[in-house]
Amino acid sequence: MKHSMKEELKLKGIGVSQGIVIGKAFVVQKGRISIPYYVLWNEEDIQKECERFIWAVDQVENEFLHLKESLRNGMADYASLLDVYRLILRDQLIYNETLNLIKSRGLNAIWALNMALEKVQQVFESVDESCVFDRLSDVGSVIERVMRKLSGQKSDIFENIRERSVLVIRDLSPADAAQIPLEKVMAFVLDIGGKTSHTAIIARSLNIPAVVATERATKEVETGDLVVVDGTSGDVTIRPRENTIRYYVELQLRLENYIKEINRKASQPAITKDGSRIKVEANIELLEDVVSAKDSGAEGIGLYRTEFAFMNRDSFPTEEELYQDYRQLAELMAPLSVTIRTLDVGADKLTPWLPVPDEVNPALGLRSVRLCLKYPQVLKMQIRAILRASSYAKNVKLMFPLISGIGELRILKNMVWKAMNELRRENIPFDEDIPIGVMIEVPSAVAIADLLASEVDFFSIGTNDLIQYALAVDRHNENVAYLFESLHPGLLRMIKFTVDSAHKRGIPVSLCGEMAGEPFYVPVLLGLEVDTLSMNAQSIPRVKNLIRRSIREDCKRFVRKILSKKTAKEINEELRHLVIREFHDEYHFFQEGFPSDGFSLLGAGVRL
Ligand code: PEP
Ligand code: MG
Repeated sequence: MKHSMKEELKLKGIGVSQGIVIGKAFVVQKGRISIPYYVLWNEEDIQKECERFIWAVDQVENEFLHLKESLRNGMADYASLLDVYRLILRDQLIYNETLNLIKSRGLNAIWALNMALEKVQQVFESVDESCVFDRLSDVGSVIERVMRKLSGQKSDIFENIRERSVLVIRDLSPADAAQIPLEKVMAFVLDIGGKTSHTAIIARSLNIPAVVATERATKEVETGDLVVVDGTSGDVTIRPRENTIRYYVELQLRLENYIKEINRKASQPAITKDGSRIKVEANIELLEDVVSAKDSGAEGIGLYRTEFAFMNRDSFPTEEELYQDYRQLAELMAPLSVTIRTLDVGADKLTPWLPVPDEVNPALGLRSVRLCLKYPQVLKMQIRAILRASSYAKNVKLMFPLISGIGELRILKNMVWKAMNELRRENIPFDEDIPIGVMIEVPSAVAIADLLASEVDFFSIGTNDLIQYALAVDRHNENVAYLFESLHPGLLRMIKFTVDSAHKRGIPVSLCGEMAGEPFYVPVLLGLEVDTLSMNAQSIPRVKNLIRRSIREDCKRFVRKILSKKTAKEINEELRHLVIREFHDEYHFFQEGFPSDGFSLLGAGVRL
C-alpha cells in the first residue's frame, strides 16, 4: 500500500556510487510482455517468421553497437558488458535454438524464443554460483529486449522522463541503460542488485549516486515524490520532512566540499607527515582506462590486466596489434612507469583463444602462466610485444602472475632472454634493462620470497588470489565469502614476510589486490611498509589523502600491535578505533563502507 503524501519513509539499501541527491522521483514500471502462442502452417510464413526474428536480433545488436560507440573514455567496463550482450544475442543455445524451433515446429518467434530462454535458465539454475546468477540476469534482459521488438512494444521505457529525476526502477540492466537519457538522471534507486552488480559498475563509471537492494523502492515511491538518495550510506528517504531535507542539504554540501578538496589534490604525490613517499598507481583492464587513471592522479600503471584485451576480441590478436596497444600505453603514461602483466587467463577469465580443458578445480588448474606455458607461442608473442614497447620511454616493466616456484620462473625468464636475443638479431630495439617482476599470490611464493627476491627486480602482491589460496576461500563463492578476510593475521604475516624479504635484497614491493583500493586499510599497508599501492582509479584520491594524513612510524607501531592479535575481528576493531580517531571526517562520510572483516559463527551458518 502506498503511503500518504505527507508521510516520510526511510529505506535501507546498499550505497554503490557515492554522493547525495535530493530530487523528484521518476518510477519506471516496465509493462509485461505478452507471449502469444500460435503455429505457422506453411513454409512461406515460417520463413517470414525466421526473418522477423533475425530482424529483431539485428535491431537490438545495432542498439548495443550504437551505445558502445557513444560511450566516453573511462567506461571500458560498460563497453565490455555490451560486448558480452552481443555475444548473448548470438549464443547458439538461444539464437540457433529459436530458429530451429520456428523451422522444425512452426512456432511463432516470441514463443520459440521464450522456450529457448527457459532451457537456458534450467541449465544455469542447476549451477549454484553467484557469477552464473549475474549472467542469467544478463541473458534475461537481453532476451527481453528482443521480445519487446517482436511484440511491437516500445522498448524505450524512459521516454516519459520530462525533467531531471531520481530514477526508481526494479532492476536496471546495461541493456536498459542504453536508452536512459542520462542527462536527466540525478541518481538511481533500485529494488535489487549488489555492490558488484552491473548497475553499480555503470553508476560508478557515470559518476551518478546510486543505491541498490532497497527491496521495495518501486512499491513505496510514486513518480513526483521528493526523495533523498545517499549513495554513500545506502539510505533512501521518501517524502522527507523539512528537517530531514535541511540535514541532507547540509551533509551534501559538506560531502561535496570534502570530495572536491580531495580531488583537487589528487595529482600531488602521497607523502606521509613524516616524509615517507608511497607511490599510488592504477590497475587497468583496457588501454582506454588510462584517461581516468591519469585524471584520478595515478603515478603509473601498477597492473595492466592484459587478458581483457584478449577476451573482448573477435579474432586472435597479432604481435603487431599487441605491440601497438602496449606502446600507446607506455607513451601515454611516460615518464611514469607501466607494469604489463602477461596473460592471466583461466579459472574465471576465459577466452576462446586459449581453450582450457574441463577441470575439477580450475583455480588450482591450468590457469595463468601455467596455461601460457602450454601455449608457449602465444606467450612468446606477448613477451616480444612487451619488449618492443619498452624501447620508447624505457618505462615498461614486465610481470608474471601466479608464480609458485623458482623452476617455473626460470623457464619464463629463459623465454624472455630468448625473445631478447631474437629481437637483437632482427635489429629491433627494446629496453635492455627492463625490470622483470613477479606477482606474489600463491602461498609457496611467500614462503620462498627471500629466494625469489634475488631472481627478480620487483614484487607485486596480489591479495585477491593470495587470500583465496592462503585461506582456502574461493574468491567467487558467496557461501564462504565471510571467510575472505583481508585482515586475517595469517595474511598480514605473509605480507610482512614478503615485504621484509624483498627489502633485505633491495627490491621494491607493490600491492595490487583490491585491498590496496580500500582507503581504510591505508594505516595497515603503510605499517607493513609496502612501497607502492595499485588500485582502481576511483579510489586513488581518497587513498592519497589518507596517506598524507598518516605518520608512517605510527602505522608501523600499529602494525606491530595488530600482528599480535589472534583474529581478523580483533584487528578490524583496532583499525576502526584508529580510523575514527585519526580520520574522523572520512569515517563520518564513509563508515557504511567500512570493511566488515571478522569470522562470525552466524556467517558460518551456525544459529546460536
Ligand atoms: C590479485 O590476485 O590480487 C590480482 C591483482 O590479480 P587478479 O585480480 O587479476 O587475479
Ligand atoms: Mg591474481
